[in-house]
Amino acid sequence: MNEHNPNCTKLAAVDAQLGTLDAFLDFLGEKGISLGAYHDHTETCGPLEGFVTRECGMVEHRLYPIAPSRTDLLYEFFGIDPKALEAERRALLDGLRR
Ligand SMILES: [Zn+2]
Repeated sequence: MNEHNPNCTKLAAVDAQLGTLDAFLDFLGEKGISLGAYHDHTETCGPLEGFVTRECGMVEHRLYPIAPSRTDLLYEFFGIDPKALEAERRALLDGLRR
């Protein structure tokens, strides 16, 4: 792994896998299957309103559809920091311009 641009190196190493997972997510979407997450109330959900909801309007432990950024999700899965990756790319481009 290149110590100067570890995120670029990671991305290059998993490029084919990333493409496969991206296609799999497309496949799921075409079948009407979406990602979901169980909601657990936090401090930011506000005070209790009614029996089970808070200001967030959600019910604790109920599954809700989520639509995270696909790129962010795949990068997180592969341990790639998107901000660091962008900084590495900019540094590489700056190096080429000199
Ligand atoms: Zn909540």
